[in-house]
Amino acid sequence: MPRRKCIKCSSKPFVYLKYANAAFCREHFVDFFVQRIKKNIRKYKMIKEKEKIAIGVSGGKDSVSLLHALSSLKKEMKFELYGIVLDLGIKNFSEESVKAAETNLKNVEIEYEVFNIKKEYGFTLEDMVMRIKYRNPCSICGVIKRYLLNKLATEIKADKLATGHNLDDFARFLLTEFISMNIDALKRLSPITPPRDKMVGRIKPLFLTPEKDCNTYVKATDVPVVRGICPYKLKFSNKTIFEFVNKLEENRKITLVRGFIHKIKPRLGKTSELKLGKCKECGFPSSGEICSFCKLCKSFNIH
Ligand code: SF4
Ligand code: ZN
Ligand code: ZN
Repeated sequence: MPRRKCIKCSSKPFVYLKYANAAFCREHFVDFFVQRIKKNIRKYKMIKEKEKIAIGVSGGKDSVSLLHALSSLKKEMKFELYGIVLDLGIKNFSEESVKAAETNLKNVEIEYEVFNIKKEYGFTLEDMVMRIKYRNPCSICGVIKRYLLNKLATEIKADKLATGHNLDDFARFLLTEFISMNIDALKRLSPITPPRDKMVGRIKPLFLTPEKDCNTYVKATDVPVVRGICPYKLKFSNKTIFEFVNKLEENRKITLVRGFIHKIKPRLGKTSELKLGKCKECGFPSSGEICSFCKLCKSFNIH
């Protein structure tokens, strides 16, 4: 770290952020982290006063740092917060991640619920991965998480669902869809997705926060996070894009994501509204007769 002082109080720096050309002590880094989230919530009109915000908390550094930031902003910005924790039953991982999520939710005194997929549906993510061997576990996990977070947020009548996707996640998704020339997915890619019938609006307040800063936040505040890694991580995801984004400097990632939102996205034209009907089984929105989640359930003869 270059020899500098905290730009706010001139004390010994805890971290130097090259992309911001600024050093911060522990306390002022935490403040910088939270203020950037607040600025982006306002700038992109993510939360209105009096709204009920559901937050998916996995116990990982991203959702935990978002939980703490939103909890410290909720009074000033006048919104309500409610935590949703999914227990997907991944061996040697879910137990620890649920515990970390619950500890943090209790520490910030936010009401929450834990949804155990095995208890409610009779299968775990691992059971599903064993059954559907040809499919990437992260894509099965994505279907389950998207469906359940939306379902639970709808049930508690949340106005929005906040997720911990950070700058690096956004950049990875953007590049993946760009390489596949998936224009419809690019048109829909946004830090804020409006609500539709039985689909809660989604917000990504960390979309301009580098992944490294979430790690630094966790170190600076000593909040507990899951230390283990999901056994499926990186085994199946797109390593080339993952490594490419890792190598990019934070400045470049910010330019890429901001440039996309402000310069490219408006030129792509309006999002072609995906025509959604109702799933025959569960009544939630679906592009086909049966939604992807219910199709998974059917492979276990559930329903
Ligand atoms: Fe789910 Fe993949 Fe994340 Fe594991 S690494 S929790 S399977 S999305
Ligand atoms: Zn300071
Ligand atoms: Zn369904």
